[in-house]
Amino acid sequence: APAPLLGATEIRRLADELDVRPTKTLGQNFVIDGNTIRRIVAAADISPDEIVLEVGPGLGSLTLGLLDAAARVVAVEIDPKLAARLPRTIEEFRPEKAASLDVVLSDAMRVRELPHAPTALVANLPYNVAVPVVLHLFEHFPSLRHGLVMVQDEVADRLAAKPGSKIYGVPSVKSTWYADMRKAGVVGKNVFWPAPKINSGLVGFSRHEPPVTPASREQVFAAIDAAFAQRRKTLRAALAGWAGSAAAAETALRAAGVDPQARGEKLSVEEFAAIAAHHPDLAG
Ligand code: SAM
Repeated sequence: APAPLLGATEIRRLADELDVRPTKTLGQNFVIDGNTIRRIVAAADISPDEIVLEVGPGLGSLTLGLLDAAARVVAVEIDPKLAARLPRTIEEFRPEKAASLDVVLSDAMRVRELPHAPTALVANLPYNVAVPVVLHLFEHFPSLRHGLVMVQDEVADRLAAKPGSKIYGVPSVKSTWYADMRKAGVVGKNVFWPAPKINSGLVGFSRHEPPVTPASREQVFAAIDAAFAQRRKTLRAALAGWAGSAAAAETALRAAGVDPQARGEKLSVEEFAAIAAHHPDLAG
């Protein structure tokens, strides 16, 4: 028989006991459906020797599922009440796995050190900070090779969007600097307590090497931010501030092999890397 996971009754009991009132600011929507947890864990494709980083373990729904699939789970939670309770919940529902869990009380947007180097990220992310959390973790934990995150469905589509798509934007390009991103499914509202107003989406990723360029990551990201800050303008106009003038932007774009009349939403991360390498300060 599959190991027991937390359902609506257990989640309510834990929340009552802790006097937790789920807050919107912390994106607290707890999964109350074991099938959804099994689906997320299966889609994450975790090997038994892996160390999984979970952001926002909450009351432990996903943590329990992950502990069955991985060697260790490192759970980063910002809410002190939830972080303090988690080890006891695991002790209660899966005592044999209690020693495989580390709980870190921290903001996942700022965390720089973890007790173990994680190989995978699997999380039901707090929705309002999902993109900055993912980018921060990609940047500071190169040991993360792959993962699966649940975010707002629309954000899932943005993260997985490819050049030329209407919703392709800053999250799509920046995440692709680090990893191949792919949409891995939609999750309905009713598997959560409280139920959010919109559907959730799953995004899987596999890490790759960033594009080869003499520009730094920061320089490439500055070009991306500039191009999308005025996404309806041509790149020549949108990058004028970034390059110093529209003429300098045109020179950099031509040197990078990019049409100055094109728009940012058509460009791959490799093209942004090439543009950044031809910034007047670097081209010199
Ligand atoms: N994993 C649980 C589940 O699936 O039921 C809870 C997911 S809930 C969508 C998001 C969780 O992230 C909450 O437990 C919340 O307290 C936590 N959280 C919010 N902001 C955070 C941050 N900046 N760093 C770490 N955890 C955060």
